[in-house]
Amino acid sequence: MTKRILIVGGVAGGMSAATRLRRLDEYAEIVIFERGPYVSFANCGLPYYLGGEITDKKKLIVQTPERLAAVFGLTIHPRHNVVAIHPDRKVIEVCDLETNETRTERFDDLILSTGASPVIPPIPGIDRPGHFPLRTIPDLDKTDEWIRSTNAKTALVLGGGFIGLETAEQLHRRGIVVTVAEYGSQVLKPFDPEMAALIHREIRKHGVTLKLGQAVTRFDAPAHGEHAAASVAVLACGTRVPADLVIVGVGVKPEAGLAIDAGLAIGLSGGIAVNESLQTSHPHIWAVGDAIEVTHGVTRQAMLIPLGGPANRQGRTVADNINGKNSRYFSTIGTAIVRIFDQVAAVTGANETLLKKAGIPYQVVHLHPNSHAGYYPGAKSIALKLIFSNEDGKILGAQAIGEDGVDKRIDVIATAIKAGMTVHDLADLELCYAPPFGSAKDPVNLAGMAAQNILAGDVMVAQWHDIPALQESGAIVLDVRDDTEREAGAIPGSVGIPLAELRKRLAELPKDRLLLVHCASGQRSYNACRALMQHGYQCRNLAGSFKTWKAATEA
Ligand code: FAD
Repeated sequence: MTKRILIVGGVAGGMSAATRLRRLDEYAEIVIFERGPYVSFANCGLPYYLGGEITDKKKLIVQTPERLAAVFGLTIHPRHNVVAIHPDRKVIEVCDLETNETRTERFDDLILSTGASPVIPPIPGIDRPGHFPLRTIPDLDKTDEWIRSTNAKTALVLGGGFIGLETAEQLHRRGIVVTVAEYGSQVLKPFDPEMAALIHREIRKHGVTLKLGQAVTRFDAPAHGEHAAASVAVLACGTRVPADLVIVGVGVKPEAGLAIDAGLAIGLSGGIAVNESLQTSHPHIWAVGDAIEVTHGVTRQAMLIPLGGPANRQGRTVADNINGKNSRYFSTIGTAIVRIFDQVAAVTGANETLLKKAGIPYQVVHLHPNSHAGYYPGAKSIALKLIFSNEDGKILGAQAIGEDGVDKRIDVIATAIKAGMTVHDLADLELCYAPPFGSAKDPVNLAGMAAQNILAGDVMVAQWHDIPALQESGAIVLDVRDDTEREAGAIPGSVGIPLAELRKRLAELPKDRLLLVHCASGQRSYNACRALMQHGYQCRNLAGSFKTWKAATEA
C-alpha cells in the first residue's frame, strides 16, 4: 500500500529526509509543509548575502518546489503552517497562510523538522523598529531593506554566538560600524575562555567594538540631541550605544510547540525527545534537527546542539527507518567552525565547561604549531587545544584558531573522537605532508605526542590559570625565551634564563621549589623541562606557554 508521509519543515532536516525517502520508495506519497515562502534554502549563507560576499540571492535558494516536484516527485506546500498534530488519529491540522483556511491531512508517518526559533530576550524596547533576528530569507530581506532605506551606518549585534559574529563581520564588511554586546564574559561558548580570547583580539583588531559581560538593560528611542539612531542600547554600566540597526542573535530555542501540544515527550533541555531511531514517543512520529534533544557524544548528556550537519544526517536516518532500514543516530559531538575576519575558529567534542559539568576528569595540552612547514612561505601559527582523558588517553575535545589549516585539523580530530580513538592513535596518524600543506609531524600528531608525554609522566603541565596559585605557593616561573623576546613582554614575577644558557646556569635555580617553565609556545620549555627533570628539579611546563597566557589574560 502507498505510504503517506508528511514532513513539517522544508529546509535542512526536512528536505534531506524527503529526498532520501524518495530514493528509497518510488511510490510513497511525500508531502512537505513549510510555514515560510521558501523551502530548501541555505540559512547558513544568510550573513554572507547581507555582507555582500554572496551577491546573487537566488544562490541561497538551493531548490524550488517546482524542481523538487519534477525531480523527486515531492508535493510541497510553502506558506502552510502546521497548527496541530493528533497522534491518536494520525492527522495534522494545516493552515494555508494564503487563504487562512485550515484543513486536516492524514499520515502514515510524520516527520517533524521544525527547527529552532530565535530567542527574543525580554529586554524593554527589544521590539523597536530596526531590530531583526537573522534566521530566514524574509528576515534577511527586512534587514537588508532597513539598511538601504535608512542608510544605516551603525549596528549593534546582541549576542556573540556563531551567527551573531558572522553577521557582525559581514556588517563591518558592508562599511557599517559595529558593536557586539555579549552578556557573558566571552563570545562563542563552545570554546574555552583562553581560546575565545583570540577571537576577542581579532574582533577588536578590525575595529568592531566588543562589550563583554555587559547586559543590555533596555533599548531607548534616541534622546533629544542624541544621534538619530533607530535605538539606543543602554548597557548595565550606563553606557548608551546608539545603533541604526540591531541584530538580535542571542541564540535559538527548539520549535517544539507542536510536539508539546500533541503530548509527545519532551527532554529536559526543551527539545523533542527521540530514541536512537529518531522516533518520538509516538511510533509513527519522527523528529530531527534543531528541534530535538540529542546525546552529546563525549559527555553522554542530553542537550541541544543546533547544527546543519546533524540535521541533514538525521533526515537521512529517519528516511531509512521509515523504510525499515534500522538506521541509528547515536550522538552529536558539536563539530563547528566560524570565520571571524582573518581567523578561523573550529571546535569539536567537549570543552572544559561541559566536562566539568559531567564530572569527567581530563587533561589539556596547548600547542602553537605552523599550518605547514615553517620554511615554506605563508605558514601561519595555529592555536590548538586538545582535551583528553588522563585515565586512558581518550580524546574528549579539541579547539583550534588560526588563519590557515584549522578546519582540516579539527575535522581529523572530530573523526578520531567519533572513532573512539586515543591520543596514542593521534600521534600515530599518517597524514598528508609536503611543505606547502603540512609538516612531517602534523599539528594533529604533535598534539597526540604532547598528550602522550603527559600520560607517560615525561613532563607535567600547568595551565595558564594555575599560575597565580602556584606562585603563591612558592613556584618560580622560569622563562626560557631569549632576552629580546622577554623585553617585548613577560609574565609578572618570572625569571629569565634562555634555553641555550640553561645547562650552564643550573646553579641559579633552587631544587626545593617548583619551576613553572615557559617559552613562547611550549616547545622550548618542554625541552627545558626534560633537562631540568633529569638534573633533579621539580618542574611543570606551562601549556601553550606565553602565547596562551597572554591571550587569556589580556583585557
Ligand atoms: P531549519 O532548517 O531551520 O528548518 C525548519 C523549518 O521548519 C523552517 O523553515 C520553519 O519555517 C519550518 N517550520 C517550523 N514550524 C513549522 C510549522 N508549524 N509548520 C510549517 N513549517 C514549520 N549550522 C551549521 O552547522 N553551520 C553553519 O555555518 C550555520 N550557519 C547558520 C547561519 C544562520 C544565519 C542560521 C539561521 C543557521 C545556521 N546554522 C548553521 C544552523 C543550521 O542552519 C540549522 O542547524 C539547520 O538548518 C537545522 O535544520 P532543521 O531542519 O532542524 O531546521
